[in-house]
Amino acid sequence: MSAEPRAGLRDTAAYLSPQLEVAARLNANECPQPLPNGFFEELAEALRRLPLHRYPDGQMVQLREALAQRIGHPFDGIWAANGSNEILTQLLQAYGGAGRRAVTFEPTYLVHSRVCWLTQTDLVQLRLPGDFVLTEREVDLAVAERADVVFVCSPNNPTGNAQPVQMTEAFADALPRSLVIVDEAYQEFGGESALKLVADHSNVTVTRTFSKAFAMAGARIGYLAATPEVVEDLQRVRLPYHLSALTQAAGIGGLHYQREAEAIVDAIRSQRDRIAAALEAVPGMTVYPSEANFVLFAPPIDARELWQALLDRGVLVRDMTTVVPGALRVTAGAEPEVDLFLAAVKEVLAG
Ligand code: PMP
Repeated sequence: MSAEPRAGLRDTAAYLSPQLEVAARLNANECPQPLPNGFFEELAEALRRLPLHRYPDGQMVQLREALAQRIGHPFDGIWAANGSNEILTQLLQAYGGAGRRAVTFEPTYLVHSRVCWLTQTDLVQLRLPGDFVLTEREVDLAVAERADVVFVCSPNNPTGNAQPVQMTEAFADALPRSLVIVDEAYQEFGGESALKLVADHSNVTVTRTFSKAFAMAGARIGYLAATPEVVEDLQRVRLPYHLSALTQAAGIGGLHYQREAEAIVDAIRSQRDRIAAALEAVPGMTVYPSEANFVLFAPPIDARELWQALLDRGVLVRDMTTVVPGALRVTAGAEPEVDLFLAAVKEVLAG
């Protein structure tokens, strides 16, 4: 006997990203170093005082206030959840669903199409232009598809380029009754934010995360900046007390370490630029311009062979060949990790 799952469920692969113990883990766009010790000491103290026998603050007031202050956005337009993945899921629960249609521009972050599938939202996967930068043409296509939800990812994963804010504005203007979700998971590393659009464009929402620039992927915290109306809609779909008191405490504490996090971001940016420059110097290598904390590149040899050869040398990168032919994606890690990566590439290509 075995239970029959939802139609099509078993045709869908589980999200799997290898978590291997290697010298340089450069496959998941994580931050290479934790926040300073002071953060953990303060967090331990805050946890000791938590009334864990009670449900957490369902309105996440302290965390949302701290976020509102950090990004300069009104409190009632801020929302938080277990990673920006959960924010995206809640947005689709509220604005997608059966009979509604979402548009993505591929290649982009895999989870966008996944949350559409999860929420039974019709999905139209359009293509980004050759240079991966959105144009008026993509706006026209989204209008022709009568999209209820449009995903813009800036900087875009896995390509690395940022999208012009004017294009987000163009989507919002051309589809005034539709929700434009701007996924800014990597915004701290580069590109212009669409946040300023929210004030005049009530259909624009910006999602952000603590997982990358904030060095807290393990805490699972994402947030949203939108109009109060959108936040009210998310209140209707979220599960009761979805963000634990432990997570809220970690988020509030993390925001005290903003300056330290910014220093880490600067270091990551320079490693990113160093990777790009070093790879560009390799004959036959294609390097895609990046404003994020990773670099997409297509090597002059079989990409999967290079992926394996790098792993054999203790360097784990992301195989993107099914998404961008011949391409791998490497996270800008700490300097010694990047040293290892570049040395391994050089050694493999020298053959
Ligand atoms: N958006 C993009 C574009 C991402 O690449 C990622 C992480 N890989 C996320 C969102 C998810 O972030 P979180 O850890 O906040 O769920």
